[in-house]
Amino acid sequence: MKQIVWFRRDLRTDDNPALSAPAGEMLPIFILDTEILKHLAPDDRRVGYIIERVIRLKAQLREIGLDLAVFYGAPEAVFEHLGNELGSLRVYASGDGDAYAKARDARVAERVDFCPVHDGFLLRPEHTLKPDGTPYRVFTPYYRSVLPALEGLAHVAPVSPRATLLPFDYEGMRHIKTGERLPFDAASIGFAPAPCDPALHRLPTEVFEAFRSRFAGYETFRDYPEMAHTTRIATALRFGTESIRSLFRRLFELKREGIETAPFMRQLVWREFYHMILHHFPGSETDNFLPVTVAWEANEEAFVAWCTGQTGVPLVDAAMRCLNQTGGMHNRLRMVAASFLSKNLLQDWRLGERYFAALLMDYEASSNVGSWQWAASTGADAVPYFRIFNPWIQAKKFDKDAAFIKRWVPELAGLPAARLHDEGWMAQNGVSGYPRAIVSTKGAKERFSARYHYAK
Ligand SMILES: Cc1cc2nc3c(=O)[nH]c(=O)nc-3n(C[C@H](O)[C@H](O)[C@H](O)COP(=O)(O)OP(=O)(O)OC[C@H]3O[C@@H](n4cnc5c(N)ncnc54)[C@H](O)[C@@H]3O)c2cc1C
Repeated sequence: MKQIVWFRRDLRTDDNPALSAPAGEMLPIFILDTEILKHLAPDDRRVGYIIERVIRLKAQLREIGLDLAVFYGAPEAVFEHLGNELGSLRVYASGDGDAYAKARDARVAERVDFCPVHDGFLLRPEHTLKPDGTPYRVFTPYYRSVLPALEGLAHVAPVSPRATLLPFDYEGMRHIKTGERLPFDAASIGFAPAPCDPALHRLPTEVFEAFRSRFAGYETFRDYPEMAHTTRIATALRFGTESIRSLFRRLFELKREGIETAPFMRQLVWREFYHMILHHFPGSETDNFLPVTVAWEANEEAFVAWCTGQTGVPLVDAAMRCLNQTGGMHNRLRMVAASFLSKNLLQDWRLGERYFAALLMDYEASSNVGSWQWAASTGADAVPYFRIFNPWIQAKKFDKDAAFIKRWVPELAGLPAARLHDEGWMAQNGVSGYPRAIVSTKGAKERFSARYHYAK
C-alpha cells in the first residue's frame, strides 16, 4: 500500500502530525481543489496566499529531503488517478471539521484507507466534555474546565517526519482532468488574486516577539481598531503555517518570563470553543444553535447597503469597506457589523456569515458561524437577545477620533468626530455624497425582540 500525506490546513513541516505519521516511503501532496475554487471570485486574495504558502512548503520539504506533488482537480478524482497509477493508497491528513470538508473526506475515504490526524486545534472536542459526558454550551465553564490541561497539551513533544520520499514526478502542477502539466501559479488556474498584506505571512511565534511589549495592554486596548493591539495571526492559524502547540508553548514561555498572556490565551480558547461546538453540533453550521426562531426580514436593498458599506452608519460602513478592500476586519468591528446586520437590519445571520466567509483571509467555519450566531443571539451564549451593539456608541468608545472611520470612508474625512458619532445630527443634516442612515437605532431592541422567539 502506498502512503500519501495530504496537506490541507497544515502548510508546514515543523511539528506536523500528518507528515510525521507514516514510516517507510510517502508521497506528500497538495490539491488545489476545484470544488472550492469554483465558488471563489477570480481575484480572491486567499488563492494568492495559499499558492505562496504552498511554494514555501515545497521548499521546506526539499530542505529535509522530501518534496511536494501538486494537483489541480477534485480530490476524489485526484485519488482515483493516483490509485490507478500507484495501486492501493493510505492517506494521512489533518482533520478538517466543516460540512464541506467532512463530506469531501467521506467521499475520499470510499476510495482510500483514510487516516485523519488531530491538528490545528490544541484540544480534542471529544475530550472536553462536561462531567456528565455532554458538550459544554457556554464559554466560561468550558474555559475554566480546559485551563488546567492546556499547558500539558502544549508541551507534548513536537513530532518530526520519519518517512522517505516516494519516487514520483514532482514538477509543476498536474491538471487532473486534462492531464496537462501546468506551472504552479494563479494565472494557470484562471485567477488574478488581489494582493494580500505580507504581514499575514509572519509566523505566530514571530509575531509574539514583536508583540511582547503589547501583551500587557492587550486586554485594555484590543478593542480599538486603530491601535494595532491585536496580532492578526488568525490567517496563519487558519492555514496551519505553524503548529498550534508551538504557539501555546511559546505563550507559556512568555508567561514564565512574567508577561501577562492570560487574556490573549483566553481568545485562543474561544477559537477552541467554537471548534468544539461545531464538532458536537454540526447542524449549527446552518441552523440556529439555540431553540429559537427569528422572523428575519428579506430586504435585499438593506443587505447590499451593508455589504458595500453604504448604510449611512459610519463605523459599520468603514468596517465593511475595510473588509472588501483588504479581506480583514478587526474583532470589535466584526461584532458591530454582525449585530447591525442581524439586529438592526433584521437580516438573517446566515447571509452575513456567507458574506464574511467569501472575503475573510482568516475565514474559519467554526469561529465564523459561532461568532455570527453569538452576534445574532441564536448561538452558544449565556446572554440572550437583549444585547444589541449601538454602532454610534461603539464608534464613540472605540474610534473616538474617528480615525478609522475617516480612513475607510473618505467622504466623512472633513467632519469632526463629534458629528460623526452623533446619530441625530447625521440624520438631520446629512453629508454630501454619503447616504443617511438606512435605519434608526431608536426602538431597535423592541423591533428585534418582537421577532425573536425562544422555544424552551
Ligand atoms: C462575526 C464574527 C466573525 C468571525 N469570523 C472569524 C473567522 O472566520 N475566523 C477567525 O479566525 N475568527 C473569526 N472571528 C473571531 C475574531 O474576530 C478573529 O479571530 C480576530 O479578529 C482575528 O484577529 P487577530 O488574529 O488579530 O486576533 P487577536 O486579538 O490577536 O487574537 C488572537 C487569536 O485568538 C483567536 N480569537 C480572537 N478572538 C476570537 C473570537 N472572538 N472567537 C474565536 N477566536 C478568537 C483567533 O484565532 C486570533 O487569531 C469572528 C468574530 C466575529 C464577531
